[in-house]
Amino acid sequence: PTRVPGDETGRPSLTVLAGPTAVGKGTVSTYVRDHYPQVLLSVSATTRDPRPGEIDGVHYFFVSDEEFDAMVRDGQMLEWAVVHNSHRYGTLRSTVEHALEAGRSVLLEIDLQGARQIRNTMPEANFVFLAPPSWDEMVARLVGRGTETPEQQRVRLETAKLELAAEPEFDHTVVNDRVERAAAELVSLMGVDPVQAS
Ligand code: 5GP
Repeated sequence: PTRVPGDETGRPSLTVLAGPTAVGKGTVSTYVRDHYPQVLLSVSATTRDPRPGEIDGVHYFFVSDEEFDAMVRDGQMLEWAVVHNSHRYGTLRSTVEHALEAGRSVLLEIDLQGARQIRNTMPEANFVFLAPPSWDEMVARLVGRGTETPEQQRVRLETAKLELAAEPEFDHTVVNDRVERAAAELVSLMGVDPVQAS
């Protein structure tokens, strides 16, 4: 397994952020990427198509099924999973290793299956669960997003219920009440000064 060097305060420099669907993991991790340059947000590979406005190499590395197969076969994936029963997503081993060698704090925003894989291969990493302020708020967020059909929403809420039960597997819980506050708490758990936000 890949070793995660800690910094001089002993804090781990690889942090995994996971949590239920629609809890706002993407929003919090994007906020961290844009406001805390000390943190490197790992760019995953995925087989899904880009959404409008998404840029290859910035939001994801958009790859074909064949390319993803080859990356898995060549051992390039630190972890990977099929998410929402549709497409594959994976963390590139090289991204994480290069960043850790350079002494940077790395953030992985991945699903629960991926977090469990990292738990097995890099147990010394820092595992942070992003929780909704309440169940009702999470339902409202998922429905309000308006990107899923009612049937898809039902499936996602079932999944979310199971995902919420995973909280005790994590080292820390951050409640996503406000994105700025949740991001500051997350980076402080990463050993990054939370007041350095630009
Ligand atoms: P979206 O398609 O909305 O961008 O992302 C869907 C889900 O994929 C999110 O829950 C996100 O956490 C997860 N995801 C993104 N990248 C990775 C990855 O590299 N590995 C795993 N296991 N999940 C990922």
